[in-house]
Amino acid sequence: MNALLPRPSILSIEPYVGGESKIPGVNRIIKLSSNEGAFGPPPMAQEAIIASAREAHRYPDGGATKIREAIGAKFGLDPARIVCGNGSDELIAYLILAYGGEGTELIMPAHGFVMYDLTGRYAGCRVIKVPEKNLLADVDAMLAAVGPRTKLVCLVNPNNPTGALLPQSEVKRLRAGLRDDILLILDSAYAEYVTDPDYDPGQALVDASGNTVMTRTFSKIFGLGGLRLGWAYMPPQVADVLARIRGPFNVNATAMAAGIAALAEPGWIERSVAHNTEWRAKTVAGLQAAGIKVWPSACNFILADFEDVAKAKAADAALRARGIIVRGVGGYSLPTCLRITIGTAEECQMVIEGLTEFMKNV
Ligand SMILES: *Cc1c(COP(=O)(O)O)cnc(C)c1O
Repeated sequence: MNALLPRPSILSIEPYVGGESKIPGVNRIIKLSSNEGAFGPPPMAQEAIIASAREAHRYPDGGATKIREAIGAKFGLDPARIVCGNGSDELIAYLILAYGGEGTELIMPAHGFVMYDLTGRYAGCRVIKVPEKNLLADVDAMLAAVGPRTKLVCLVNPNNPTGALLPQSEVKRLRAGLRDDILLILDSAYAEYVTDPDYDPGQALVDASGNTVMTRTFSKIFGLGGLRLGWAYMPPQVADVLARIRGPFNVNATAMAAGIAALAEPGWIERSVAHNTEWRAKTVAGLQAAGIKVWPSACNFILADFEDVAKAKAADAALRARGIIVRGVGGYSLPTCLRITIGTAEECQMVIEGLTEFMKNV
């Protein structure tokens, strides 16, 4: 009998494991494992979701015209160069499948976002993970890893799961050092949270080059992860490629309606950023006071480092006993760390209390 088998590279992929959401026997769960935004969906987006129910029999606008116009107006971008996806994960997959494939290489930092590794292998690329310096992407090492088969370089900035922000000058130096036939994917899923005045999520680099794409998402600050809505800003020739390969109705009507409403919610980004900046600092200070190392973060999560694998596991268990789910990042080869989303003020306080108590007892 001949066994049915996929392409060999497929079987090297470990299925993606998302942040957990349940603890057996615990009723009230504090879920701080997927960076979903502290405030939930904006009220106007919730209204739009309900209103969209009446039109659920209609196919969505395959051109995603209104949502692209709303994104363009909000961020000052040409809607013709915006493509929407069923989450930015879908756009990332399209880009890697379109430009990568068997016989090509994809370069990413060692602790970069896992989807680039998984999708790179799916496409058949050889995925090269370049060691960082102090958990910060090492541009010289990434450039040194480039070979004749390199087609894709993927940089998440600020990065998940480390929270690290690479200075703008380094991002520019990376693009400038890459050949023109290499696509640079700048994943700016956490862009809205960044308060560094020098930061550019990628718009300037996309405009300045024909081979850079910026990806963004409604899953983090806009609290719409459950609806799957992402977008990317890109040169016209890349938009043309995605227009050829994407599903004709890849973004659903409810997601688009909610996205438009979320962008229109007055003060949403400002309030979310102010809360995040305040409670990230308080959580960092609380954990440090308890004796825990915390890596610098520009995102809506922090990476707490217990500097010992068993201790990190015990801290995870101690939080779970209090109904708090954070994210173990052993799968990112950071087994001494836990990634903790910045939730509401109350949730952050519960994390600080739980870990302070834990550190007293270890
Ligand atoms: C959360 C996240 C995404 C977003 O994904 P969606 O598919 O839009 O939900 C993309 N990149 C990074 C680095 C993320 O952390």
